[in-house]
Amino acid sequence: MLIFKTRTDLMAQLYMLRLKGQTIGFVPTMGALHTGHISLIESAKKSDDKVVCSIFVNPTQFNDPSDLKKYPRTLNKDIAMLKKAGCDILFVPEVEAIYDEGVIVNEYFDFNGLDSKLEGSSRPSHFAGVAQVVKLLLEIVEPHKLYLGQKDYQQYLILSNLIKSHNLQVMTVMCPIMREENGLAMSSRNERLSEELRKNAGIIYLTLKKAASQINYVPIDEIETTAIASINQLPDFKVDYFKVLDAENLEPVNQISNVNNLIIITSVITGGVRLLDNLLIKSDDISL
Ligand code: AMP
Repeated sequence: MLIFKTRTDLMAQLYMLRLKGQTIGFVPTMGALHTGHISLIESAKKSDDKVVCSIFVNPTQFNDPSDLKKYPRTLNKDIAMLKKAGCDILFVPEVEAIYDEGVIVNEYFDFNGLDSKLEGSSRPSHFAGVAQVVKLLLEIVEPHKLYLGQKDYQQYLILSNLIKSHNLQVMTVMCPIMREENGLAMSSRNERLSEELRKNAGIIYLTLKKAASQINYVPIDEIETTAIASINQLPDFKVDYFKVLDAENLEPVNQISNVNNLIIITSVITGGVRLLDNLLIKSDDISL
């Protein structure tokens, strides 16, 4: 696996690959890799000639400086995992290599309100920071395909929106959520949970599945209220949101027969850690 720290070296290498007609799959990450990240690398390996992964803990998407400071950094382990997965190129830039004009969000993005709800409502400017860094990385890597996890579904929608509105020539691929044995969605932040909280956090996926099973029979507001109560009853668990929404635009749903796909999406805080999860319900599974 080739490792690059500067954008010029990486771009020169990628230029050579493109000249040879090779396709490039790109997996942007913030490191502290786990099986979820590696599943994205594996998907890219299946359909692209070369796979590029980036590890960059992007300061502009953190609202809380202590969250940025606490973000786990495990580069040596990450490199070993990427090599084992057959990743071809790793890009690990320093902050200065990405932000030569200063570490601030200096571009205005209009996501039609998609960025101010759910995760955006408690983390203002978070998605502007994500969009800024992914746009910069896409300009550097110029991949054919961009691999993103369903786990960060709102981020996936926003980045798809960014690609469309800026006419970026890349195809997005959404990869399924990898889970721990008890159903907890894998996340670099899970490492910060105590053993007990991590075990109890299995309730999030169980509750999502229960909500999905009720979708054709129980009113949406009742599904949401029951789900929130069932997670909140665990000591030190607090639901930020648990909603059944239109999967295309994250708008509330009055009548499930009016939408194509639904998403049940939640964010739960436990032990000072924010856990995200969701479940997509395809239109075929909604009975009218
Ligand atoms: P992160 O390093 O947290 O920014 O995540 C990098 C990419 O990995 C994003 O596209 C995430 O959605 C994806 N990802 C994170 N956790 C998982 C998971 N449990 N399963 C699949 N993809 C994931």
